[in-house]
Amino acid sequence: MHYSLEKVIALIGARLFGHHLDAQIDWLLTDSRSLAFPETSLFFALRTKCNDGHKYIADLYRRGVRNFVVGTVPDHYEELYPEANFLLVISPLKALQRLAERHREAFSIPIIGVTGSNGKTVVKEWLYQLLSPSMVVTRSPRSYNSQVGVPLSVCLLNEQSQIGIFEAGISQPDEMQTLRAMIQPTIGVMTNIGQAHQENFATIEEKCLEKLSLFKDTNILIYDGDDPVISDCVQRSLYTGDLLAWSRKDADSPLFIHTIKKNETSTEIAYAYLKKNYEMTIPFVDDASIQNALNALAVCLYLHISPAVIAERMSRLEPVAMRLEVKQGVRGCTIINDSYNNDVNSLDIALDFMSRRPDQNGMTRTLILSDIQQSGMNNEELYAKVAEMVHSRGIDRIIGVGPQIAAAHSAFTIKKRFFPSTSALLESGVLNEIQHELVLLKGAREFNFEELTELLSLKVHETTLEVNLEALSENLNFYRSFMKPETKLVCMIKASAYGAGSVEIAKTLQDRGVDYLAVAVADEGADLRKAGITANIIIMNPEMSSFNTLFEYDLEPEVYNFRLLEALIKAARKQGISNFPVHIKLDTGMHRLGFNPKTDMPQLIDRLKHQSALIPRSVFSHFVGSDSPKFDEFSAQQFQLFDEGSKQLQLAFSHKILRHICNSAGIERFPERHLDMCRLGLGLYGIDPIDNHVIHNLSSLKTTILQIRDVAPGETVGYSRKGTITRPSRIAAIPIGYADGLNRHLGNGHCYCLVNGKKAYYVGNICMDVCMIDVTDIPCHEGDSVEIFGDNLPVTVLSDVLQTIPYEVLTSISERVKRVYFQ
Ligand SMILES: *Cc1c(COP(=O)(O)O)cnc(C)c1O
Repeated sequence: MHYSLEKVIALIGARLFGHHLDAQIDWLLTDSRSLAFPETSLFFALRTKCNDGHKYIADLYRRGVRNFVVGTVPDHYEELYPEANFLLVISPLKALQRLAERHREAFSIPIIGVTGSNGKTVVKEWLYQLLSPSMVVTRSPRSYNSQVGVPLSVCLLNEQSQIGIFEAGISQPDEMQTLRAMIQPTIGVMTNIGQAHQENFATIEEKCLEKLSLFKDTNILIYDGDDPVISDCVQRSLYTGDLLAWSRKDADSPLFIHTIKKNETSTEIAYAYLKKNYEMTIPFVDDASIQNALNALAVCLYLHISPAVIAERMSRLEPVAMRLEVKQGVRGCTIINDSYNNDVNSLDIALDFMSRRPDQNGMTRTLILSDIQQSGMNNEELYAKVAEMVHSRGIDRIIGVGPQIAAAHSAFTIKKRFFPSTSALLESGVLNEIQHELVLLKGAREFNFEELTELLSLKVHETTLEVNLEALSENLNFYRSFMKPETKLVCMIKASAYGAGSVEIAKTLQDRGVDYLAVAVADEGADLRKAGITANIIIMNPEMSSFNTLFEYDLEPEVYNFRLLEALIKAARKQGISNFPVHIKLDTGMHRLGFNPKTDMPQLIDRLKHQSALIPRSVFSHFVGSDSPKFDEFSAQQFQLFDEGSKQLQLAFSHKILRHICNSAGIERFPERHLDMCRLGLGLYGIDPIDNHVIHNLSSLKTTILQIRDVAPGETVGYSRKGTITRPSRIAAIPIGYADGLNRHLGNGHCYCLVNGKKAYYVGNICMDVCMIDVTDIPCHEGDSVEIFGDNLPVTVLSDVLQTIPYEVLTSISERVKRVYFQ
């Protein structure tokens, strides 16, 4: 969306507190964690049962957000938030919904509204897959179908949109009316009706009627005509538009499904639409997928997409990831993961899916099931029903998690175990014994079944760098503890944050309130800005060709000689820019870059004084050897030179110029030289530069075993027959090579990685994408995790073998290694 603030105020009828009416709004924000574009975001301070958005205003303001829709204007807002606009309304949620309504009204394109008990997201995603090759589709992201999700979805409509698909989910009576007002669907799809969210409705009919009210004003309503509840409710409702009820039984229905023939992995469907016969095949065999596909088929036919085109696209339908994910498990298991929601209907769907798996020959079928909440049934009734389903679908064993299902244990007559919580199940060790089983995981979200999935899934063949953001904060605190509170801090996130990936690191540091971030080149800075980083950014090596990027993204360059200084002044002037902050570098002994403090100061000061395009924000230098006492005398000389030169510069200007010289080692070793600011690099990433010990380990480079083979003495492993085997050996291949940044000199037994905590030496030459390790004495399996370096194997072990510094190992990890962040 794209609105002026004035327009938003008019649309939602807010009272303005603030004076910055020229703001533009492109993004709506309800969760401070998803902030990306602070300047053009409008934050709605929503109040929910457990939280209050007003609590996040200060944080968001600091991060650059200026526009807030609030139920209460903060006290002293003019002093605390001088640049902010507060739009006061009675209810920020209602205001958000109202804005969505007004936004929706500006579009006269077909809008598909999807509701029902199950399958909303799949039908929406499949319609997207089916329609998007021929039109621009705007749809709800993920499962944004709630009172907050729907307005955020609807506001995604834009000039390009040719059709919209939005899902609506309700859990209580009367909620649909609000959703209808925002979606204003012209085409309605009722996926099905079942027990989900029954607890707030007296009868299933009442809930069905409430859902149907979404479609009050649609031109067409699509549903399963064979479902007696829906058909009956449609008759009883006040709906007056056209009906497209598809049916497998009624040959007179406009969309009659003749035959459904399930093959091994696909289903052939023959149907008649307006009395003409067609066929299609979908790459799914479970009943839920068939129902979803038929609903989608009806929409496509209604939209006049030709049956031939529909058949072609149906044959390529892709599964929707968040539901019923099938994964390869550990120890020969297959995992069906449906821990996205848990209700009787979706359990039935998942059991059906499980019973149709082609690859289950003789495998034990285990169901891991959490308490089913909000069913609207009493426990006894509920679990009797669950037991009946479980028994009829041929499940061999149930593992129940949660107090309610545990209490109902006697309902189940198959092999069974029950645990009060997910952690109790994890601690029991029961899961470590599972092998060659087909396991269905079905848990309500609050049971965190992700932990079980994680434990049971075969790790993907992927090499990842895991980055612990908590460790980053701890390392920051460690260095902060050497510093006075008023001393400012620059965090060096050059070279992609020493290999850890700059965006996430920058976000974390910004949240922690560091004063400056520093990167090497302008493009790195621009990428951070595009990712929503608002902290001040210093560019250490600005290229002559990058000045416009600097100005455009407010990136403050280091200036190290007169040539760069002149060019910057000229470029800034050309753009009419004045007082653009720069950081002056003095060379006190590194002899790399910088003005000479002994000879250049008068000319530098003169030049800076007689122009107004640039303004010196800081002046700094860099120690050659702050990490070692051996250079202490030289460091003292460097400091002396810097002190004199930088004081001269400061004396020439009335504004404060920040002086700084300490890097990580300097922070620790020279507290008296911290001056106004320090620059923290390696220490932030967990390595203490003084003795190379690990403070809090940040990054772990991990991979998994691809294959294990036995190799006899006398054989060789790898290129050029370098790895000679001298005893009967088990050799594992792992998917990491020198192209990932695993230095080739570590090969041939020079270094090791860890497999299940034990040292496994590299055998033979390291290849480009793969290498081999000796696991003869290590109990391990294909799929097991391998630590190249990390919490248990310090990166300095590798850098020592390579006779280099940890900086080089960290920054060598190639970009193709996926970075995974966790807290
Ligand atoms: C990289 C860098 C630092 C950080 O050094 P560490 O030893 O990693 O703390 C500080 N200042 C400058 C100029 C740098 O280039």
